[in-house]
Amino acid sequence: MKECTLCPRNCLCNRTDGELGFCGEKETIRISRAALHFWEEPFISGKEGSGAVFFSGCNLRCIYCQNREIALGRKGKEVSVSRLAEIYLELQAQGANNINLVTGAHFISGIRESLLEAKKSGLTIPVVYNSSGYELPESLKLLEGLVDIYLPDFKYMDKKKAQAYSHAEDYPERAKAALAEMFRQVGEVQTDERGMLRKGMVVRHLLLPLGVGNAKGVVDYVYETYGDKVYFSLMNQFTPCITQEKHTELNRKVTAREYNRLLDYVMEKGITNAFIQVGDTAKESFIPDFDFEGV
Ligand code: SF4
Repeated sequence: MKECTLCPRNCLCNRTDGELGFCGEKETIRISRAALHFWEEPFISGKEGSGAVFFSGCNLRCIYCQNREIALGRKGKEVSVSRLAEIYLELQAQGANNINLVTGAHFISGIRESLLEAKKSGLTIPVVYNSSGYELPESLKLLEGLVDIYLPDFKYMDKKKAQAYSHAEDYPERAKAALAEMFRQVGEVQTDERGMLRKGMVVRHLLLPLGVGNAKGVVDYVYETYGDKVYFSLMNQFTPCITQEKHTELNRKVTAREYNRLLDYVMEKGITNAFIQVGDTAKESFIPDFDFEGV
């Protein structure tokens, strides 16, 4: 972090000295919530909930971010590595099915330390690493043997959209490399006797307005590369959070027609390892309160 190269932004800033790079975070880990979370895929949340830890800051900063309060804002409380390890154990004691680390790429070295410490102190439930997909394989290697389940987004195959919405024209190539490393570490999906996810990778894609072509590209790539060894999670819950002046297509929800076009495509390809969303999911109630609970 003295010349930060933890993620593809390669900012080279000195975070140990308080200098901020693209992610907007110094060296010390900050989180905004650590609590049971019930809205992940059913085999991750279960009825007991997933122990979600939301990290502050983000290295992608999408213009439509659904967690903008913490990702783009400055909301977060500093925690030491030891406190973070303790939080995992507290979530385990509350009955969490797993520890779910939400978008912590920019704190990946501290996350490694916290997991090592927690495992020494009795953390036994699976660890889920919930990622934007914009990560470096070299950094992900720090988590080898510590993470059981990777839950990456694959947001764009379309470079223009990646640049316009997430300031990252190289997103498709970076995500491909990141997913390859994640899969190398955890392999094929495995569930336990209750049907809960124990190991493997679930690739998420949030369908955006006017995004069916991009989504099909993602589905093609992931299915052609990993087949039925991974799960898809295809989401329609996009919620416009702010008014966009330039990309006005993002000022509305995804239509049923758009989502159905994507689902038809997935079914035509014969993909069965996929979660889909039904009902009215595009509402703000799916966005948690970042109120420092459990911090
Ligand atoms: S982790 Fe943050 S400071 Fe480091 S390279 Fe990525 S965006 Fe830049």
